Amino acid sequence: MTQHVVIAGGGIGGLACALALARAGVSVDVLEQAAALGEVGAGLQLGPNAVRVLAEWGLTGALHARAAFPEDLRVRDAHGGQTLGRLRLGSVIRARYGQPYATIHRADLHGLLLEAVQQQRGVQVHLGARLASYETTPASVQARCEDDSLFQGAALIGADGLWSRVRTQLLGAQPVRLSGHLAYRGMVPAERVPAALRGSGVTAWLGPRLHVVHYPVKRGDWYNLVAVVHGVLGQGHGGPPGSDPQSWSHEARWNDLQRALGPVCKDLLDMLGAVDHWLLWALNDRPPMASEQEHAQGRVALLGDAAHPLRPYLAQGAAMAIEDAWTLGRLAQAQPDLATDHWPELLARYARTRWARNAMVQQRSARNGTIFHASGALRLARNAAMAMLGESLLDNPWLYSGPPEPS
Ligand SMILES: Cc1cc2nc3c(=O)[nH]c(=O)nc-3n(C[C@H](O)[C@H](O)[C@H](O)COP(=O)(O)OP(=O)(O)OC[C@H]3O[C@@H](n4cnc5c(N)ncnc54)[C@H](O)[C@@H]3O)c2cc1C
Repeated sequence: MTQHVVIAGGGIGGLACALALARAGVSVDVLEQAAALGEVGAGLQLGPNAVRVLAEWGLTGALHARAAFPEDLRVRDAHGGQTLGRLRLGSVIRARYGQPYATIHRADLHGLLLEAVQQQRGVQVHLGARLASYETTPASVQARCEDDSLFQGAALIGADGLWSRVRTQLLGAQPVRLSGHLAYRGMVPAERVPAALRGSGVTAWLGPRLHVVHYPVKRGDWYNLVAVVHGVLGQGHGGPPGSDPQSWSHEARWNDLQRALGPVCKDLLDMLGAVDHWLLWALNDRPPMASEQEHAQGRVALLGDAAHPLRPYLAQGAAMAIEDAWTLGRLAQAQPDLATDHWPELLARYARTRWARNAMVQQRSARNGTIFHASGALRLARNAAMAMLGESLLDNPWLYSGPPEPS
């Protein structure tokens, strides 16, 4: 009998999971609260670990049609402008890991996964379907949406993001961790990027209490910018106090960003000044996972940000969601005569394979924030280490060679 699974959340993680399970012959209901899937979000970086999974799923052509493939990652001082370190990407990283490093707009990655899912038999994406709660029985899980519609499966995967309801029911209510950091996001058409910065690289500018990252997306036709500063949503940033912390789309003012950045070098200021329209979002996460039980229990598992939300300073949020999905697909594929009884053990193996790697990525992401925003002696030590150790400090073989095979 075909196995059936319910996935809450149709973001990058939910769609990747639907694709991975469908490829393993499992049919899927995806419940997505949004009424429509549209052009939301900005740029994402995809390390070779994520690109490896997309390639295995036959999505190399779709990725090349939408992404950019930067030649290097250059770290510069936001005040003096000098280069602090460089990691060669392009053909060098491809030779090292067998896959390239890509940068892509979130909507494009979401779109290519949706197209792939739509080509699979047995996947139904339900829009306007907001999961309210679930009930487990010894042989199944029943998900209830806010409109009282019911969906039953052999397992429920909570891919419903940072504010996950599946997580709250599985692990109890735990407040998200406020980072005190805000991300200003904008896009610039390539022809308006200052000539000195027009190239196919990722540039990260570091300064005390700030960093800025920009890179090409949409095959190089646009550049994505994100500027991270310290502050509180609604207090000198964005709208009035009480702004919805869950929104990805607060309108932001260039004046607020400029004030928060303080004096930065001319190249950086010119780049930021080319953005017409800024959006703002508050960066929240949760402490690193502490056990496999935080990933799955019985017939219910968490995936992506629902399980391990992180700060975007290692650029691996989408990649970890994709790796989680790949692992589930791999386990389902490897199980002979997959049956309803197999799911608790399959999800337990998923949790065992994933939790420590995800915890490490969460921990390294938060640590990068401290290093990026350092001042005083830590800043000097960081700059000296980059000068001395060069590429080896910026490369992440433990990460980019993934995802690990299920254990
Ligand atoms: C609108 C949006 C824009 C984003 N933009 C960026 C960006 O520009 N840059 C970046 O680096 N990262 C961005 N992210 C985050 C990034 O996509 C994720 O960190 C990463 O891809 C992990 O994805 P995820 O699927 O686990 O979680 P998410 O991407 O958060 O997806 C969760 C999905 O679940 C849905 N959902 C939530 N609650 C329920 C419920 N109760 N019932 C049904 N569905 C539910 C949400 O609508 C969403 O589609 C964005 C996320 C979202 C939702």
